Amino acid sequence: MTYSIEIERSTAPKTKPQEDQLGFGKHFTDHMFVVDYETGKGWHAPRIVPYQGITLDPAAKIFHYGQSVFEGLKAYRAEDGRLLLFRPQDNFKRLNLSNERMHMPEIDADLAMAGLQELIRIDSGWIPSAPGTSLYIRPFVIATEPSLGVAPSAKYQFLIIMSPVGAYYAEGINPVKIYVESGYVRAVKGGVGTAKTAGNYASGLKAQEEAAKRGCAQVLWLDGVHRKYIEEVGSMNVFFYIDGKVVTPALSGSILDGITRRSVIALLKEWNIPVEERTISVDELFEAHERGALTEAFGSGTAAVISPIGALYSENGDIEIGGGKTGELAAKVYDTLTGIQYGRVADPFGWTYELQVAAVK
Ligand SMILES: *Cc1c(COP(=O)(O)O)cnc(C)c1O
Repeated sequence: MTYSIEIERSTAPKTKPQEDQLGFGKHFTDHMFVVDYETGKGWHAPRIVPYQGITLDPAAKIFHYGQSVFEGLKAYRAEDGRLLLFRPQDNFKRLNLSNERMHMPEIDADLAMAGLQELIRIDSGWIPSAPGTSLYIRPFVIATEPSLGVAPSAKYQFLIIMSPVGAYYAEGINPVKIYVESGYVRAVKGGVGTAKTAGNYASGLKAQEEAAKRGCAQVLWLDGVHRKYIEEVGSMNVFFYIDGKVVTPALSGSILDGITRRSVIALLKEWNIPVEERTISVDELFEAHERGALTEAFGSGTAAVISPIGALYSENGDIEIGGGKTGELAAKVYDTLTGIQYGRVADPFGWTYELQVAAVK
C-alpha cells in the first residue's frame, strides 16, 4: 500500500545546536510525523508538521491509564555521505508487539517506514556528522480518547520525533558501576516487561535514584519471584563472559528483546564464541567472580550500543570486573557494531538500511 503523507513545512527553522554540545534527547528537529487512529476508521491522516506541542483533552486515557508504547533507533551519517538506519524494521515489529501487549492497535510497518523516510528527508540536515554523533529517532503511540472508563482507548496517535544526540562516549568507552537491586522489581512473567511501555520506566526511577546515591549508573534487575536470577539493566540487556563463554539471560517473558542484544549474539556466533541464553543467578555470577572466571560484563542497547560493566555493587558486597576496565570482547563488539552502523565496516548481516535521501549536510 502506498500512502500520501501530507507535508506542512516549518516556516521558522530552528538554529541547530553545536555538535559538541548535543547531549541526549535535549534538542529536536524542525518536523514530526503524526498519524491518527480511531476505532472503525483505522490509521488515517498521516502528516508531517512543524515540531510543536500537542493538545490533548485532560481526560485523554494516556494520562490516567498509561497506554503508551515507544521505540528508539538511530540514523547515522556515514563518512561517504550515506544515511544509514540500523535494523529499523525490527523496531517497528517490536513496536507492534508492545502495541499488542498494551491492547493498542497495530501500526502498518510500511506506513511507519514511509513516514520515517519522509521525515528524515525533510530534516536530514539535522543528522550530525561529528564522530560518534547520530540522530536519535523516537516513534511512540499514545491513547488519546477523552474518557475515564478503564477500557482500551478508541483513539490513538502515532508520532515520530527526532533528536540529534552527542557521542555517548565523548571521552572514550568507559565502564560503569551497576547496583544489583534486591528490593524493587521491574517486571514479572505475564506482566509487561517484554513491552517498551512507559510505565516500566516510571516504576524504575526510584531504584535508579537510590543506585545513583551509591555511585552506580544503573540498576541490575533481578527476577520478580525469586529475586535471584538476572534480568536486565535499566534500558540495556546484559552479557557476562565466564569461562570463555558468553552468558545472557534468556528471553523468558519479563525482559525486553533488545535489537542490540540480538546483534551481539549474532556477532559472537559469527566469531565462534559460545553464547548461552539461559537463566543465570547472581550467586552463579559472584561465584564465577570468586574463582576468577568472570572476565567481562557489559550491557547492550541502542543509546550506548555497548556499555562495559566495571563493578557490581550489591547488598552482599561489591565485586570489580576485569579490573574495572573495558574488556577486549566488549571493545571488539562495540567497534564492530558501531563500525557497521556508521558504514565503516562491511555488513554481512543485512542490518544496515540505506535511506534514499539526497545527503544534505
Ligand atoms: C530499549 C531497551 C533495551 C535495549 O533494546 P535495543 O533494541 O537494543 O535498544 C533493553 N532493555 C529495556 C528495558 C529497554 O527499554
